[in-house]
Amino acid sequence: MDLYEYQGKQLFARHGIPVSEGRLATTPEEARAAAEELGGEVVVKAQVLTGGRGKAGGIKLAATPAEAEARAREILGLVIRGHAVRRLWVERASGIAQEYYLSVTFDRGEKKPLFMLTTQGGIDIEEVAAHSPEALARLHVDPLVGFQPFQARWLCFTAGIDDPAEQKQVVAIVEKLYTAFVACDAMLCEINPLIVTPAGDVKALDSKFTVDDNALFRHPDIAGMRDLEAVPAEERRAREKDVTYVKLDGEVGILGNGAGLVMSTLDVIAQAGGRPANFCDLGGGGDAEGVVDALEVITGDPDVKAILFNIFGGITRCDEVARGILAALGQMAITDPIVVRLDGTNAGEGRRLLVEAAPPNLHVEETMLSAARRVVELAK
Ligand code: GDP
Ligand code: MN
Repeated sequence: MDLYEYQGKQLFARHGIPVSEGRLATTPEEARAAAEELGGEVVVKAQVLTGGRGKAGGIKLAATPAEAEARAREILGLVIRGHAVRRLWVERASGIAQEYYLSVTFDRGEKKPLFMLTTQGGIDIEEVAAHSPEALARLHVDPLVGFQPFQARWLCFTAGIDDPAEQKQVVAIVEKLYTAFVACDAMLCEINPLIVTPAGDVKALDSKFTVDDNALFRHPDIAGMRDLEAVPAEERRAREKDVTYVKLDGEVGILGNGAGLVMSTLDVIAQAGGRPANFCDLGGGGDAEGVVDALEVITGDPDVKAILFNIFGGITRCDEVARGILAALGQMAITDPIVVRLDGTNAGEGRRLLVEAAPPNLHVEETMLSAARRVVELAK
């Protein structure tokens, strides 16, 4: 789960990483009031779950509350890389002498957290890595040994931060960032830029914070930060019903049991010349309630023109799934054509049940490829 900049900064502050004081605003008037409270020059920042806000005009300085209101009005109208701006973060403006970059992320290949620090901050880290890799200090932390203080000093020396007062502050921030990373079950904590002010103070001017979805149950406060309005309506509905669903941009609705089977179903739809409208995994079972929940989510997408059920009965028996599908269709009025491919344990019995009792818009196919071809044809 990705957090907004201001939410990441809240977590930074909780772990003692210096950030600027600020206020959240959702209207130009609130931005004005925030600027009045903060006093002096402020920066008005679009809160969207994507980077490059500065370049897109989503970050503006304002010398007075009236100016903050005007800048807020402009920024609230923006759509940045497909993300409409609905929230603003108004914070006390900082003077900038240097822009550094600091992050800790999870390196899956090494199975260890990886720190990166460079004095060439403010720009995309990919650019630094590509054009001046020698300027990028990289260091893995062994999760069993834990973070060692000398590692922070090594990062500073290697990145070329040689002012002692500055070093001291960066070392402290590196250490606190690691604590925040572990305590929050984060996948990424990034500060770009980490600035040095003209007075020599080091602080986080931006934050990019990603928390492992599978650990959210341990962090109800972070889970509560999720902005439900920022996800597609179908995915919001799916989350409420506990259905594993990802919206895609095609017209063939997909429903299968098991993530691997559903993923290969997406490929077969593409091979048959169609485009999947979603990923949807029923999980192991195939009871009527689960099918109804999933079908409600899938048919809630107006782009869906036809639906493919792809079921492989391993532990689940196909006749049970067939009964589940029939019961579900009995409870809902679906007019879109539906193609069902059933295979595995008791497949013959399952198909027979469907053929005997199914409504006219339901078509039974024996193989995955024939089912994919049929549903793509019906979606046209
Ligand atoms: P991003 O473009 O989404 O990465 O947003 P950032 O929060 O990193 O801001 C982009 C740039 O705006 C920074 O690199 C700074 O140059 C500038 N900026 C942001 N906040 C301030 C501020 O308080 N004072 C000044 N002078 N510039 C700022
Ligand atoms: Mn940034």
